[in-house]
Amino acid sequence: MEWVDTHTHCNDEAYAGEQDAVVERAVRAGVRRMIQADIDSRERPGSFALAARYPGVLFSMLGLYPGSVTRDWQAEVDALAAWRDRGVVALGEIGLDYHWSQEFRREQKDALYAQFQLAAAWDLPVNIHLRDATDDFFSVLDNCRNLGLRGNLHAFSGSIETFRRLERYGDWRIGVGGVVTFKKASLQEVVRAVPLERILLETDAPYLAPTPLRGTRNESANLPLIAAKVAELKETDLETVAAVTTANAEQLFGLCDKIPAKHPSC
Ligand SMILES: [Zn+2]
Repeated sequence: MEWVDTHTHCNDEAYAGEQDAVVERAVRAGVRRMIQADIDSRERPGSFALAARYPGVLFSMLGLYPGSVTRDWQAEVDALAAWRDRGVVALGEIGLDYHWSQEFRREQKDALYAQFQLAAAWDLPVNIHLRDATDDFFSVLDNCRNLGLRGNLHAFSGSIETFRRLERYGDWRIGVGGVVTFKKASLQEVVRAVPLERILLETDAPYLAPTPLRGTRNESANLPLIAAKVAELKETDLETVAAVTTANAEQLFGLCDKIPAKHPSC
């Protein structure tokens, strides 16, 4: 069995000096492909350099993270174009986050709108980070209805109603990570109700380590623990979860078009 981690941060400072070991441990655990979320211009060179060492294994997203949006967001968004020809598979992680600060709400919405325009112009899916801003997210999406956007809500924490609302916008899916393994997580009900064909697996490493590793530094190698919980909730076997979620990732992110030598599952 093999897996795709659709949202991870292999170059995070939590792995300083051992990024290669992190990638290699994941591959040995069957997580043969990983998609790295982009944060901002400060983190970008390091994570793209790491991805360049692992063609066909590490893939890159490109985008300005909502937590990095300030008054100067336009310069950050303008800087994205210089990176788009480096095998980028999505605009991400982009979105809205009002959890820690509401200071730049207006700017976050403007930056999201601008990056939705880029996703459409570059024909790329979007990987969304959304926290405590659901209605504003849908209002930006409403303003972009004509763009035919496709993508996923990473680390989905919404209700089944939010998923149904999302479905009305076309090809949208949800990213499921370590939270699904936590006791009494409402995400478990969501996973039971959402078709497996709409689910992508992710770790968001180094954050959100699954049970029984909760609270420790997470790694992409832990993805099978998340998959096992999804299999239990969907009352199916691990092979089915591997096959369906891998196909979902390949399809949404166009992984089979972006690799130098075709991957066996493509
Ligand atoms: Zn992330």
